[in-house]
Amino acid sequence: MPSLEQGKVIKATGGFFTVLSTEGKIFRCRARGNLKKNNLSLLVGDRVMFIIQHSALGTAPDEGIIEKLLPRSNCLKRPAVANVDQLVVIMSLREPSLDWQWANRLLVLAEKEKIKALLCLNKVDLVTDQEIEQLNSELIPFPYHYLYSSVLSRKGLEALAAALENKCSVFAGPSGVGKSSLLNALQPGLKLQTGQVSSKIKRGRHTTRQAKLLPLDQGGSVVDTPGFTRLDFSDIKAEELPSLFPEYASYQGQCAFRNCRHLSEPNCAVQENLGISINRQRYKHYRYFMEELNSRQEVY
Ligand code: GDP
Ligand code: ZN
Repeated sequence: MPSLEQGKVIKATGGFFTVLSTEGKIFRCRARGNLKKNNLSLLVGDRVMFIIQHSALGTAPDEGIIEKLLPRSNCLKRPAVANVDQLVVIMSLREPSLDWQWANRLLVLAEKEKIKALLCLNKVDLVTDQEIEQLNSELIPFPYHYLYSSVLSRKGLEALAAALENKCSVFAGPSGVGKSSLLNALQPGLKLQTGQVSSKIKRGRHTTRQAKLLPLDQGGSVVDTPGFTRLDFSDIKAEELPSLFPEYASYQGQCAFRNCRHLSEPNCAVQENLGISINRQRYKHYRYFMEELNSRQEVY
């Protein structure tokens, strides 16, 4: 009986799965019939147990059969990837300019999927020290880790590389902020296509590609299709929005009303701490998102 190996599905095409073993070798695998029978479709990111089948010629890549799917920690629909550890929200400070609402929307979606998030503010080479100081003051307090980066000056790249180590990350953010450039800078062998903002929008890049994982040399991987491209809150209910702002959690039970939505209720601990322990900008977007969710509910 051949021994079972553990690995991770990094690509899935036409019934074949590319599996990266824990020892760092690549295998081309098929799935055992019983996996399909139990209606378990394997996804990129899945951890699996497989049996190696050494190829007869010795020159072809080794093949294998996936015997077992290991439990998933989570499972995203778009992109269809399992076991994602973190969402890296990437925004540029200029070209295109920083869009806080977009960033906060992505952070809400990460909370909804119960995925950790990190904010990366790219193209820091395009702004002055004074602007950074201003930004820093707006980010006090901010409930997520954040870092500044630049592909040009290489500022922050080490910190970003460290944050990606041994984790499976999804990059998300508007087109042109530098997602591909950052990945190329972190892993020069990748040679991902990058481009000017306008020409790329026209080409509609990334629209139909299947997700695959890009293994990183230092351990860990990045999903190669930008994630969270749909920014709509169709799966989110207005009642759950407060729980998707983690900074409100510590005030649970401190507002006068038990089901306080932190909008205009009297004696609301969240409103009382605005600008102190609650970021004003995020709170503004919280109100905006709440209105959006409520107006949607009225329609139905
Ligand atoms: P993506 O759409 O998010 O993948 O963005 P790209 O990686 O294709 O980058 C879009 C444009 O921004 C390209 O012209 C890059 O050369 C440029 N760019 C990326 N990162 C930086 C940076 O840190 N500083 C500056 N000045 N330009 C950058
Ligand atoms: Zn409240």
